[in-house]
Amino acid sequence: REERCAKIEEAIKALDFKGNYIKHERYGNGHINDTFLIQFNQDDRNVKYILQRMNHEIFKDPDQLMKNICGITEFLKKKITKSHGDVNRETMNVIDTKKGEPFYKDSIGSYWRAYQFIEDAISYDQVDKPEDFYQSAVAFGRFQHLLSDYKAESLYETIPNFHNTPTRYQTFKEAVKKDICGRAKNVTPEIEFICNREDDMKICMDLLNKEQLPLRVTHNDTKLNNIMIDNKTGKGICVIDLDTVMPGLSIFDFGDSIRFGANTAAEDETDLSKVSLNLQLFELYAKGYLEGCNGSLTKKETEMLPMGAKTMALECGMRFLTDYLLGDTYFRIHRENHNLDRCRTQLKLVEDMEYKWDEMNSVIKKYM
Ligand code: ADP
Ligand code: MG
Ligand code: MG
Repeated sequence: REERCAKIEEAIKALDFKGNYIKHERYGNGHINDTFLIQFNQDDRNVKYILQRMNHEIFKDPDQLMKNICGITEFLKKKITKSHGDVNRETMNVIDTKKGEPFYKDSIGSYWRAYQFIEDAISYDQVDKPEDFYQSAVAFGRFQHLLSDYKAESLYETIPNFHNTPTRYQTFKEAVKKDICGRAKNVTPEIEFICNREDDMKICMDLLNKEQLPLRVTHNDTKLNNIMIDNKTGKGICVIDLDTVMPGLSIFDFGDSIRFGANTAAEDETDLSKVSLNLQLFELYAKGYLEGCNGSLTKKETEMLPMGAKTMALECGMRFLTDYLLGDTYFRIHRENHNLDRCRTQLKLVEDMEYKWDEMNSVIKKYM
């Protein structure tokens, strides 16, 4: 990892930063990119930038990825300017290279891109205060709203079939059948639980295929730490981490936030009695998301929000189990059976959502 960042100074020279270079240091807690804070001095002012070595292992095509990001950030800038917002803080701003390219490929094959630094704001790693979770919902909702008239089909699918749950199910079934590690016998109840829900898994994608749900610009990593929260006002001001912006379903962005943030326990909790859907947090997020969306979701999308949440928990549980069966090759594990533990929390969450299904739907009706 350090090796791949060896040419950082070459990258700093290639990018069109203003002023005199002062220093750079590693920054933040992101897991995907190598992120650095770069400081410059311009007219006796300290100017900061974020520089990232893009994760070329996960994102095979940096060119397409940056086209997605530049497309939507330019679009956002126009809208924010029109509504007299602050383009420096309410959207990401890509810094081009001195040659006018949106990223730089260095002499050892690493890819670099830079953004203006968003001042006086923080991204939080955990949901400590429900208010922050709510603020992230409003911000992701607003992101959806502002991009609701962007041509989603013009975006590249940087990770094909990312949330194609039926395709993920086929991959899961193959992993069970091949059982290359001989682990399937340990997880009969989990396999059965998933197979019993094969029909559920198709519901959202079927609605998309029948055009009953619209194709949207989606973020696909709607975690709290991808929102910048203003230090003074506590408001969610900007959606960051746009690598996974793709065409998709709004209800999956919503659902993934719920799966991640409205669980009463950690994602890898082994005491399943602690795992459940926190209905208060579900309501808070739904309220914030719908406020942010400001009427841009269709009636069907709004109705299907609970199904988006259930599908995401189910899909995620299935992916953890698939990785367990394949010998833990995708998700990094820190202990034995880690992926199995993670799978179990997601399946428990699905079970709890089924138990609370009527309540989840009543919550959504309240805000329709
Ligand atoms: P990853 O995909 O690795 O999570 P992110 O793009 O989310 O990478 O960046 C990692 C961290 O860097 C963020 O959580 C945030 O704290 C910080 N960060 C990223 N972009 C900016 C920015 N434009 N301004 C300020 N901080 C940023
Ligand atoms: Mg991030
Ligand atoms: Mg990311």
